[in-house]
Amino acid sequence: MNIERGTLNSRRILVTGGAGFLGSHLCEKLLALGHEVLCVDNFYTGRRANITHLLGNPLFEAIRHDITFPLYVEVDEIYNLACPASPIHYQFDPVQTTKVSVHGSINMLGLAKRVKAKILQASTSEVYGDPTVHPQTEDYWGHVNPIGLRACYDEGKRCAETLFFDYFRQHRLKIKVARIFNTYGPRMLPNDGRVVSNFIVQALKGQDITVYGDGSQTRSFCYVDDMTEALMRLMESPDDFTGPVNLGNPVEFTILELAEKVIELVNPLKTQHSKSKIIFAPLPSDDPRQRQPDITLAKEKLGWEPLTGLEEGLAKTIDYFRKLVTCKLTSHKRTKLSDE
Ligand code: NAD
Ligand code: UDP
Repeated sequence: MNIERGTLNSRRILVTGGAGFLGSHLCEKLLALGHEVLCVDNFYTGRRANITHLLGNPLFEAIRHDITFPLYVEVDEIYNLACPASPIHYQFDPVQTTKVSVHGSINMLGLAKRVKAKILQASTSEVYGDPTVHPQTEDYWGHVNPIGLRACYDEGKRCAETLFFDYFRQHRLKIKVARIFNTYGPRMLPNDGRVVSNFIVQALKGQDITVYGDGSQTRSFCYVDDMTEALMRLMESPDDFTGPVNLGNPVEFTILELAEKVIELVNPLKTQHSKSKIIFAPLPSDDPRQRQPDITLAKEKLGWEPLTGLEEGLAKTIDYFRKLVTCKLTSHKRTKLSDE
């Protein structure tokens, strides 16, 4: 199955969480295909700066709205991405995190039902918890601590999947459920605590790289462009394919390997920032030991697999953060100078 660029009928598409990291890239790609895009975001972890460049496009509209409250708009498709995704942000207000996944999903499913829209849920590899099956396949039911610090996110997302499948069975809604594995790229927040952004920002500033635990835990990292392509292909897939489907890059790394790679890429000539060394800090509770998607289903049903390797994706992400960090340092220097 292939999306034929430019030959799709233009549709009205709602992206919740559209000002976030993944959402803003998705809005951009959908607009480039000629669709009308409505971005709904309460700017909890999203930023206006992520979508400023889209505001002049007549096909783009942005609304500040919290999806835990009902929304009445006319659309053909809904990508439901609204939800804080980094552990420090989703644990900051855990009750709100569960509400976004549960009340937010009920509101978006209700909207989809009323306007007969197709709806896609951004679920997560976290539904597998600390997995005992490796790599993870979609038929694995997971190993989640229901009362731990990550539960607001993990159980919220699991409940959202339940709601999607009940609306599918009970109301014959057209649903798609994507289980997204760790995704990275430009527009991640520099301070959201996720490992790729943390390591890059630390290395760029010449600070020590904080590896939690002994760094032997694994993750599989997918570049954002591959992920948006996968999400759009899933939305385009035949109605009888609902998922859940794993979306991610199956190449697995230990966190220690990631730290070493980032140091090497940020400072290839080992010049001014070679100050960064790896230090070890306590492992957060319920931190999954291993994570690697089995993407056989995505390959078969969506004709998709990631095209961007870790080095290439990291290089693009480092470029983005380098500009951000340089910009911040320069404006800080200017402020200091004007203070003096
Ligand atoms: P993000 O935090 O950058 O984006 C989430 C967006 O949702 C933000 O713009 C935020 O302001 C918005 N939001 C939060 N609560 C809201 C509410 N109540 N109403 C309206 N908007 C709200 O995170 P992201 O990495 O772009 O993740 C997007 C989606 O993908 C999330 O649902 C996340 O769970 C899922 N996901 C992401 C990853 C990843 O590695 N990036 C992995 C698995 C799943
Ligand atoms: N991690 C780390 N140092 C950091 C941030 C994260 O070692 O500065 C580890 C974290 O403990 C986890 C992995 O990196 O094992 C991925 O963390 P992230 O928060 O990015 O994603 P998630 O745990 O949700 O997969």
